[in-house]
Amino acid sequence: MIKKPELVAPAGDFERLRAAFMFGATSCYLGGSEFSLRAHAKNFELENIKQAADFAHTMRGKVYVAVNVFAHNNEFERLYNYIIDLRQAGVDALIASDPGVINLIHEVLPDMDIHISTQANTHNYRAVSFWGKLGIKRVILARELSINEISEIHQREPSVELETFVHGAMCAAYSGRCLLSLYMTGRSANRGECAHPCRYGYSLLEETRPGEYFPVEEDGRGTYIMNSKDLCLVQRLPELINAGVAAFKIEGRMKSMAYVAAVTRVYRDAIDDYFYDPELYRSNLPSYISELQKTSRREFTAGFFDGKLSADSISYDNDGAAPPEGSVARSDFCAVVKSYDKSTGCAIIEQRGKFSVGETLEFLTSSRSDFKQVIAGLSTMDGERVLHAPHPKQLLRLEVEYPVRELDILRR
Ligand code: SF4
Repeated sequence: MIKKPELVAPAGDFERLRAAFMFGATSCYLGGSEFSLRAHAKNFELENIKQAADFAHTMRGKVYVAVNVFAHNNEFERLYNYIIDLRQAGVDALIASDPGVINLIHEVLPDMDIHISTQANTHNYRAVSFWGKLGIKRVILARELSINEISEIHQREPSVELETFVHGAMCAAYSGRCLLSLYMTGRSANRGECAHPCRYGYSLLEETRPGEYFPVEEDGRGTYIMNSKDLCLVQRLPELINAGVAAFKIEGRMKSMAYVAAVTRVYRDAIDDYFYDPELYRSNLPSYISELQKTSRREFTAGFFDGKLSADSISYDNDGAAPPEGSVARSDFCAVVKSYDKSTGCAIIEQRGKFSVGETLEFLTSSRSDFKQVIAGLSTMDGERVLHAPHPKQLLRLEVEYPVRELDILRR
């Protein structure tokens, strides 16, 4: 019998981790403030990692912590203490890519599960077999693989769990193995500090004519030659399930909690629907895609799923003020529910984006009872009636038409 794959969601901080679990994640991956490749995500301090692991376990979920730095000699002493602290915090697995770090984990914590990071660029069954012989539990495959290759890897090495990315931003380079950001901004992608210069617009400059930029136009909007579209495989999940993939990963530890909640919920529903009845999954595909389009300004691509990457995988827009042609408009994150009082029908919400009384907004709910309502009355915690939140992250009282839960999202 085919096992239901795990849904692994990104968690940039504790709030996003809780949202991920509330909206359907089976597990979350996060980075500690040390030795993670996402230095600019709001990385977790040790006490927060313990809190995250405790919360995950109450949700019957798991927490994986990235220790996927490429370490230098002088970092091993700190790493030694760090991984012991992570074990004591109760994390379920460590994500690593540097053989030196993997070797250290084996030596210090021989029974700790290790997941090989996608940064290790594992592309073939022999590499998976290599990791398997070293006692590795799971390999997060490189994004640059086709479904046929993934399927063959599982057939040849069924004892090693495979995790694949199903959704999120992609690199123009092999997953982060790129010096563009370091050269252009001093921020190294290999230390988790990428400034995403592959998304910038480029033009041509002749060296004796400073300041004279010649447009190199792929089209009227400019030249974004390295700006990859976002990966989206929601319509290919059955193939991944049948290929024996153990875990589906959503990229985005830098993304907002509204993004994490919405994308996680779509993939949760798609997986559950498919296992309940593949026909139900097929009939719901348009709604999954439309919901995902609300979260992204970039177009979607299936990446390398069908073999070679096509020119179609590049987005000729930059981060894009306008939604991709033919897609649903992106929604804006307005507020998050902090609490709800059923006796008064009143919710306390925290402002996250601009909105005003009179607008019609939508609640995205973890209970899947989404609804729209006109924002009729808004007041501060002191009872003052306001037309909009006077300050960012202001707590407000709002009468809601249907019950909501903590961490439900109010969006436009
Ligand atoms: S600059 Fe672009 S391609 Fe290079 S690591 Fe950053 S996101 Fe990836």
